[in-house]
Amino acid sequence: MAPSAANIVAIYPGSFDPITNGHLDLIARGSRLVDRLIVAILRNEAKQPLFSVEERAEMLKEVLRPYANVEVASFSGLTAAYAAERGANVILRGLRAVSDYEYELKMALMNRRLQPGIETAFLMAAETYSFVSSRLVKEVARQGGNISGLVPPIVELRLAERLFEVK
Ligand code: ADP
Repeated sequence: MAPSAANIVAIYPGSFDPITNGHLDLIARGSRLVDRLIVAILRNEAKQPLFSVEERAEMLKEVLRPYANVEVASFSGLTAAYAAERGANVILRGLRAVSDYEYELKMALMNRRLQPGIETAFLMAAETYSFVSSRLVKEVARQGGNISGLVPPIVELRLAERLFEVK
């Protein structure tokens, strides 16, 4: 009998302030590799987010509705502790440029120390979105630049509402 694959539950932690097409691409590809994917918004008030956790969750849920094995959650405190609490065995992260590597390596090593049973797995960003970050999208949108194609349409709308009070 062929050995059965392990049940893989992955957590994809981040700020998602707001979700970009780069995050979405990573989620779409990641969801095909695992049984369940939990997209987890980190509650970190120190970061002075543009959108509240609830607003970010609403956008994520809307955009991720087509993915049957993906759910949206939020957490505070340590990612490794939250992953363990949710029964996850993988932490999923994305790598865009070499500049992401150093930070991600430190986080992965620290998380392994905290939870040796949980592996951090990285997916390379899609070429098309490797320059896209929530921060850059917000900066460009704030200056009136065109961000279509870089974020889902609902996010484009919410950014316009938030930045220019268009209702
Ligand atoms: P954080 O505040 O933890 O950096 P982000 O929401 O910016 O949260 O990112 C969460 C994860 O998604 C990180 O692993 C980051 O490298 C990855 N990521 C962000 N933008 C992209 C992108 N354009 N393509 C692929 N991965 C991305």
